[in-house]
Amino acid sequence: MATFDEWQTAYDVVYRALPAASDLACPNCGQRTLRIVFTARPAANAGYVSLWCDTCLEGTHVCRAPIPDGVTVRPMDKPTEERNPRVPNYRLVT
Ligand SMILES: [Zn+2]
Repeated sequence: MATFDEWQTAYDVVYRALPAASDLACPNCGQRTLRIVFTARPAANAGYVSLWCDTCLEGTHVCRAPIPDGVTVRPMDKPTEERNPRVPNYRLVT
């Protein structure tokens, strides 16, 4: 299992690459299947961020970060099941 610090480092790398997708390897399993998704109120310029690995379903989150131009944002005002892209129920490293 990767540490919180390793996930924070991965977050920094993935975040800085936005809106391009990063090909960074997962700090836990090594697969290049990291996903990052923002959730925010409509027209907000900051939101919370989910970062996880689609292979091992481990990850981290950040409570509030500026939303870079060009990224897809899940609308916070919609019910969870209508928010896209979907965020799986992954294991949060704290
Ligand atoms: Zn992984």
